[in-house]
Amino acid sequence: MGKYGFMDYEGQICRPPMERASYMLPVAVGCSYNACTFCTLFKHLQYRQLPKEQIEEEMIRVHQAGGNPKTIFLGDGNAFGMATEHLLWILERIHHYFPACTAVNMDATITNISHKSDEELKALYDAGVRRLYIGIETGLDDVLRFMKKDHTLEQAYTQIARIQAVGLIYGAHMMTGIAGKGRGIENAEATAEFFNRTKPERIINFNIFHHKRAPLWKDIEAGRYTPADEQENLREERRLLELLDVPDLSYDGMHDVFELRFRGTLPKDREKLLAQVDKALEYWEQQPSYLKIFR
Ligand code: SF4
Repeated sequence: MGKYGFMDYEGQICRPPMERASYMLPVAVGCSYNACTFCTLFKHLQYRQLPKEQIEEEMIRVHQAGGNPKTIFLGDGNAFGMATEHLLWILERIHHYFPACTAVNMDATITNISHKSDEELKALYDAGVRRLYIGIETGLDDVLRFMKKDHTLEQAYTQIARIQAVGLIYGAHMMTGIAGKGRGIENAEATAEFFNRTKPERIINFNIFHHKRAPLWKDIEAGRYTPADEQENLREERRLLELLDVPDLSYDGMHDVFELRFRGTLPKDREKLLAQVDKALEYWEQQPSYLKIFR
């Protein structure tokens, strides 16, 4: 064990499910933005980059244990926000210790991308970055503003086109229910339009869940935001699944509250997924309005 020892993870692990087989290499703690009002992941943490020695020591530990992963996920909240030079150093070290690695993936915000030039994006692609997971959340600009996301739809269109121009692939995080009570179908239609135009490889739908520790809770208490119930969230997801029109799109919709999960590839699995949502709706529409708040 070296100076830093086995890496202690700080924060709540929030890795896209498609990355579960990747080796997660922490390169930072927390999220440098940390202002989205629905998010509780890193609010208790002061963002910091991990020292180079600590990152390299972790790579050496895995290398010496015989690890040679094909895919590596850089943690945490928005690793793509780090300086390009620093990312290029990490990528060089990765290929040194893990020659089998063919893809380095990480979370990014639209703002992170906007701070990099086209040359930097190309250099990062050439050095092995392949997938960026971006918190798109919704296709409605007023909801993005209300939730204090750090982008507008127009900015998202522009920045996604820039990464795709150099060959980077994007995966989207989104949340049905985010637009609040009575706006589920409107949000499904706007969000589907965004995805149909920008063509992500994957969509991970976390379905919003409300937490008293989230800043959004103050908006709920003050009556500025009324959460949709879970039944409405299911109806929203159904509409989204009907409208998504992206070839070979991997979809993963998770409902923590209902313990439901709808997974498949669109358009191939559309009918199967719709039937699963319908079955869930058939039961839940008979139940009282259901909204769970986490403490
Ligand atoms: S960018 Fe992501 S991790 Fe950071 S505050 Fe927003 S939702 Fe949370």
